[in-house]
Amino acid sequence: VDLAENSLLNKLIRNSLVESSHHVEVLQRDPSSPLFSVKSFEELHLKNELLQGIYAMGFNRPSKIQETALPMMLADPPQNLIAQSQSGTGKTAAFVLAMLSRVNGAEKSPQCLCLSPTYELALQTGRVVEKMGKLCVNIRVTYAVRGNRIPRGTKIEEQIIIGTPGTVLDWCFKLKLLDAKKISVFVLDEADVMIDTQGFLDQSVRIQRTLSKDCQMLLFSATFEEAVLQFAEQIIPDPNIIKLRREEMTLTNIRQFYFLCEHKADKYRALCNVYGSITVGQAIIFCQTRRNAKWLSLELTRDGHKVSVLSGELTVEQRAAVIQRFRDGKEKVLITTNVCARGIDVKQVTIVVNFNLPTNLLHYLDFETYLHRIGRTGRFGKKGLAFNMVERHNLPLIRSIEEHFKRGLSFLDPDDMDEIE
Ligand code: ADP
Repeated sequence: VDLAENSLLNKLIRNSLVESSHHVEVLQRDPSSPLFSVKSFEELHLKNELLQGIYAMGFNRPSKIQETALPMMLADPPQNLIAQSQSGTGKTAAFVLAMLSRVNGAEKSPQCLCLSPTYELALQTGRVVEKMGKLCVNIRVTYAVRGNRIPRGTKIEEQIIIGTPGTVLDWCFKLKLLDAKKISVFVLDEADVMIDTQGFLDQSVRIQRTLSKDCQMLLFSATFEEAVLQFAEQIIPDPNIIKLRREEMTLTNIRQFYFLCEHKADKYRALCNVYGSITVGQAIIFCQTRRNAKWLSLELTRDGHKVSVLSGELTVEQRAAVIQRFRDGKEKVLITTNVCARGIDVKQVTIVVNFNLPTNLLHYLDFETYLHRIGRTGRFGKKGLAFNMVERHNLPLIRSIEEHFKRGLSFLDPDDMDEIE
């Protein structure tokens, strides 16, 4: 999977905060100093135009991670921070707020620098800056990304620079557009994607080394594998560290069934029987191949269903649009090949169908993908139904699911569906 694409897809389809039932874990640089957390944006004593900008975005109170992160980020003298929480929990909004709050609009030169893994992600962050800062009249953003060609020696007047590591390095050293010593807030966003991208780790370190000692350094990541944490601690001196554990996916709210079907026509008949016996709100159907997905969508459409198809040949923007339409209820059935499964989080979906079970190259069941397709986050998940269509020779896969997740799957006969009720 392309981590940067996944992250972009998440951003494009997200329109509200991801809730969390976990507590924020905090590791303070100085454990004896008091730990502040805020329940309102007023408590942060922001510039009025910034506070109004936040409210204009519809934010009423800080998100869970913002409650602790914001006081640290806005403290005087500035503190460095490493923060990890899953996508959608308010990290971007937090560091944009920090940049906007520290920037001096009267001074026409770069003061904040944010590194992003791709041009598209940089642009998304820039949009947040522009939205939140729309009442901060003199504050402007520019992008240090390939394609934005600025002649050597140009005086950059924008205070906030968002860019990819390679181009930012060029701006600093080759083109001399940017004096890193004058940067007072440095943000490294999407650290997990960064270290996954060839060369970005070294380039980020080189940029960081040229910053001044007083520069505030902030690092964000959606995940925290050991390698990310090592990188984070290498690049951020004396950090506070905060983490918000992600909601676990579970199958506890899901009733799982399976049909024995030899051919796709059998599978389709079983699917029709599901539709015939229960009221299906919205459904997601997973197919192995694009061809199968296409075939199924034609069949379903012919039978009067409103169907959309999500598959790998679509651009990220197109995928986001398909998912958004489905979320809005414009289509009742979403057929997808596995590529896009991770980005989807549609709370109103009540049934998931595996037209093909997810397997790896060795034809073992891919449990993680299975869990992602049908699982729900424990606390917020509604009840759901999952239907698996399996060929006889694949029955051992069903047994392996039962064993792995320690939960039984019920056999369904397409001609006698009373079992579901
Ligand atoms: P992350 O960077 O962790 O993925 P974002 O900062 O992009 O999270 O926030 C996710 C979504 O929640 C965005 O749509 C954002 O506008 C919104 N959001 C962020 N902070 C708040 C808040 N305090 N109140 C309401 N919505 C918020």
